[in-house]
Amino acid sequence: MSEIGMSASVTTITPADPIAVGRRLRHLRRAAHRTLDDVAGAVGISASALSLIENGRREPKLGVLTALAADLGTAPGELLSPAAPSRRTALEIELERAQRADSFPALGVPAVRVGPRLPTEALEALVGLHRSLAAAQTERAATPEHARRANAALRERMRLADNYFGDIERAAEQLLAAVGHSAGPITRTVVDKLAAQLGYTLVHVTDLPASTRSVTDTVHRRVYLPQPEAGQSDSRSLALQALGHLVLQHQVPADYADFLNQRVEINYFAAALLIPERAAVPLLRNAQAEKDIAIEDLRDLFAVSYETAAHRFTNLATRHLELPVHFMRISSAGVIYKAYENDGVHFPTDPTGAIEGQRVCRFWTARQVFERPDRSAAYQQYTDTPSGTYWCTSAVDRTPAGTFSVSVGVPYRQVKWMRGRETTERSVSRCPDPACCTRPPAELAQRWEGKVWPSARVHSHLLAAMPPGVFPGVDDTEVLTFLQQHS
Ligand SMILES: [Zn+2]
Repeated sequence: MSEIGMSASVTTITPADPIAVGRRLRHLRRAAHRTLDDVAGAVGISASALSLIENGRREPKLGVLTALAADLGTAPGELLSPAAPSRRTALEIELERAQRADSFPALGVPAVRVGPRLPTEALEALVGLHRSLAAAQTERAATPEHARRANAALRERMRLADNYFGDIERAAEQLLAAVGHSAGPITRTVVDKLAAQLGYTLVHVTDLPASTRSVTDTVHRRVYLPQPEAGQSDSRSLALQALGHLVLQHQVPADYADFLNQRVEINYFAAALLIPERAAVPLLRNAQAEKDIAIEDLRDLFAVSYETAAHRFTNLATRHLELPVHFMRISSAGVIYKAYENDGVHFPTDPTGAIEGQRVCRFWTARQVFERPDRSAAYQQYTDTPSGTYWCTSAVDRTPAGTFSVSVGVPYRQVKWMRGRETTERSVSRCPDPACCTRPPAELAQRWEGKVWPSARVHSHLLAAMPPGVFPGVDDTEVLTFLQQHS
């Protein structure tokens, strides 16, 4: 057995790490008290060539390796062994590797010469620093799992606050008061005034970097925004969100969770400007007294999208109307993009507690709305679920990114306040019981078992890791080049 093992190690050429091979060679040569010239001469190569090999900058040919092994009294397999001959050598190899990594130049620190004069203590410290740096970078890159956990934590934060953030409401109200806006929709002119109040100018450009929604230049105090597309109402929300970062004094996000929190806050801030609490609450209270609350009224009175109106309703409903609610935005395939609840409705979740990317029950209003022949009007339905009966109203939203439904629902006991409660549409959802809608009928499953290979249309933004960086997903080079051209 040992001969077979030995012969395998001699003849097998594995792609060895040149740094490790070089360190081993140097270790053996020094242990034998031999000079570079001496050993190089014995195997018929130049001293400089041997030096390159020892420094891991050149891979020795198999013939040279065999000759070197013979001269130093060892087996070629030994030289190729991945194990370092000593702890010091192991540290040297690790530091060399760190300093030759593609990511090293970006650190902006000089490389240290890894030679015998480098004290072992300093070597230990440098290797330790490189290790923790690598760990921190891994931590910072939001893996799908990180992103999903951060999403779950954020949803919990929103739920505990009943999706109402008083600080942001006050910040929005103060800004509106400062420009003397008291009533009526926030027009483009008002948005310009809000920006001016903060000392900023809104600049619409055609060459906004593709990886951004807006870019703020804090030196020249400009917010760059895309040109509003023809047919699209305007870019008010984008502008207001960019101003939100300034008003809420956001710092460069520390991690992915921080980034997500900021996104939610600027979204909230923009919605609070478009549908101010001071104006919306009396209207909603009035509608509640009339038992005639409708998302469409908010949408029409404040000239906003159905989604903004629905989002805003969830901010104010529990706080001011004592109505628990749920909200969701799903794709036409039933996949959750955004959702919120404090009324006990059970969204499908993955093991990390995240709901983004999960598919909601086929029988929920949010999916049934896609089956309606007339998609221009909101659709209402009662749904019996294992956690109770809910009434929901749902509208289809067509966007360049696809078709979505936006839904708002309340528990059965609260439906008396809502317009559309007289609907006779009803369905039963037994999810998460697989027999409800996720498990195909047994007969079909049997007939097609092993005979079908569907290819998934992956929702990459939900499943893929966010590219690492201070602002996840943003192409920094593109942004700085853009700013340079415009300043
Ligand atoms: Zn179901």
